Amino acid sequence: MDPLKQSLEQLPGATPARCELLARLDIHTIGDLLYHFPRAYEDLSDLRRIVDLTENQPQTVRGEIVEIDSRETSNGKTIVSVILSDDGEHVVEGVWFNQPYAARRFRYGQHVSFSGKPRWYRDRWQMASPRVQTLDADTPATPGVVPVYPLTEDLRPETLRRLIHTALERFAESLPDSLPLSLKDKHGWPDLTQALRQVHAPESVGSALRARDRFVYEEFLILQLALALRRRELRDRQAAPVLPVSDKIDARIRALFPFPLTADQNRAINDICRDMASPRPMQRLVQADVGAGKTAIAVYAMLLTVARQHQAVLMAPTEVLARQHARTLDRYLSQSRVRRLLLTGGQTARERREALAALKAGEIDLVVGTQALVQEGVEFARLGLVVIDEQHKFGVHQRSRVRQLGAEPHYLILTATPIPRTVALTVFGDLDVSLVRELPPGRQPVKSRWLRDHQRDWLYERLRAALGEGRQAYFVCPLVEDSSVSNLRSAVRVHRELADGPFRDFRVGLLHGQQDEEIKAETMRLFALKEIDLLVCTTVIEVGIDVPNATWIIVEHAERFGLSQLHQLRGRVSRGSTPGYCYLFADPPTTQGSERLQVFLRTTDGFTLAEEDARLRGSGELFGAKQHGAGELWALGMASRSLLEQARQDAFGLVLHDPRLQAPELALLRARVLEKYGSTLELAEVG
Ligand code: ADP
Ligand code: MG
Repeated sequence: MDPLKQSLEQLPGATPARCELLARLDIHTIGDLLYHFPRAYEDLSDLRRIVDLTENQPQTVRGEIVEIDSRETSNGKTIVSVILSDDGEHVVEGVWFNQPYAARRFRYGQHVSFSGKPRWYRDRWQMASPRVQTLDADTPATPGVVPVYPLTEDLRPETLRRLIHTALERFAESLPDSLPLSLKDKHGWPDLTQALRQVHAPESVGSALRARDRFVYEEFLILQLALALRRRELRDRQAAPVLPVSDKIDARIRALFPFPLTADQNRAINDICRDMASPRPMQRLVQADVGAGKTAIAVYAMLLTVARQHQAVLMAPTEVLARQHARTLDRYLSQSRVRRLLLTGGQTARERREALAALKAGEIDLVVGTQALVQEGVEFARLGLVVIDEQHKFGVHQRSRVRQLGAEPHYLILTATPIPRTVALTVFGDLDVSLVRELPPGRQPVKSRWLRDHQRDWLYERLRAALGEGRQAYFVCPLVEDSSVSNLRSAVRVHRELADGPFRDFRVGLLHGQQDEEIKAETMRLFALKEIDLLVCTTVIEVGIDVPNATWIIVEHAERFGLSQLHQLRGRVSRGSTPGYCYLFADPPTTQGSERLQVFLRTTDGFTLAEEDARLRGSGELFGAKQHGAGELWALGMASRSLLEQARQDAFGLVLHDPRLQAPELALLRARVLEKYGSTLELAEVG
């Protein structure tokens, strides 16, 4: 049996009580334990004489104990103080707060070492809870590098270290190393046994980090292999309809837009036309910042599909957005014979049945709806293109579900949040990417400000003036209704307050996720028609909503929103040629929270914000599902781009030469790829 999968109970020292504590850390097997990596290392190898100590750096001193004292403070806490001297003159005081038992382990005249960060306090060096080693014949003269593990309450660091040590002794030699020799040689990686030893009991911090990089690389390699295999499979399928563009088709489509396309839009469209002219199913991600004009790109691809006698479907994340797209298509296609269908939740069973029958019979050319509505038992006569709009959390999982629509259509995925390159290489690693960075000409920058509560009246007065001049505004709240557990200002409350108070002379609307779709649709329609001046809402308007005349957005409790979310929200008000205003009311509880808001105020560049967001939150979330044992590694990967790039090159190289990974030295890697990603990525052929 694979030693990594053996249960912990076999391990000497792993008592049931300890196993229970370890389970809280999600450690159940020997493998979990060996792959429970330190979150940091403490370098205690810097041995000093007390007279040479430097403030606030980890150092180690050795000496003899000259004083032991335990006293109580006025508020009843204990302080244990142990004084160490190495020359009879200079001293370091070790102090332990509230650990009365700490004194018990020391005796006068004993030789020990203290490791920690000294600070000069009153007239001597002091170390708070230093690491202590008794100096006898068996202990090394200096403690070296000490791993610091993520812990859970009641699990002592020494216990965890000892268990990991035992596991290393027992199993490290017998573990199968899945990295082939060729790759280890190429990068100079330590083999598995050595790498695990260096991670848990390193000679130096440098060798520990080098060993950890090996594991990061290995995780990336496995994912990139999966992506490379999937890409190859898709390439080989060659079953998508061939939908080439012609000058005539191109001219006809362009004539529908009331504006010339930007250079970046044209570049993306060229990529798409090249893809769709081939029987290899397109898998293209258009990555464009908010407001860069992704809809026009999607419309172009859909109309090309229709011009070549196939059906196209556009999926939006919300029904509000699906309806907006339907309206946009109505506008562009008012003079054309393209047959369109909007699938909504409000349709009766009969309406839906008839619509689906028409679709199946090929009497409909374009379908718009939410993902849920389109995926529920919809059949097409000649599906040519699937467009998935405004997806910023869209992993391989969801896409494989979309594939069950049948046939072998081309895929176009539009993402509103620019994805950092590191993430693009992982989550979206099997896609081709078109970048759209340029905004349509004439856009005005949005002014962003962070306001305090006492500036409310001032803001409302300015907002009344703007509405009076014909502008429109969004007012975003984090909650629909007041709740008994929090004091947040909800959309329902704010709507009432504003409509009956400072904005009673204006038309104030309310939009949130709990309303019926019909009500939402009507409210959005009125807002788009300028029949509503001020729209109090929740994040239902977060992505995609396009009302160029709305140039003000106020966000209540902005500390509750992620950076990318705020960026999306601000994107609502920079869609025309009038300058936009974005005001945040926020009271962040942490410094990290204020840091985030500061970043937001400083830049309007989606790329910078997305990188920051990923850095502040960790990238795990983007993967949708927790990657077993690899969570930490992903976070690391954000910082180790070069490892990711190396892994990607190696993986694609391997698959190019050995498309099914049949070489014996790849057998273990192949097994791990299939185990981890086989079903998600439908890697049928390799398995
Ligand atoms: P997003 O990329 O956020 O989905 P949209 O497709 O909603 O952006 O476009 C934002 C706004 O820009 C819309 O009002 C759209 O009509 C307009 N727009 C798109 N492309 C151009 C262009 N090339 N020139 C001028 N305006 C454009
Ligand atoms: Mg959009």
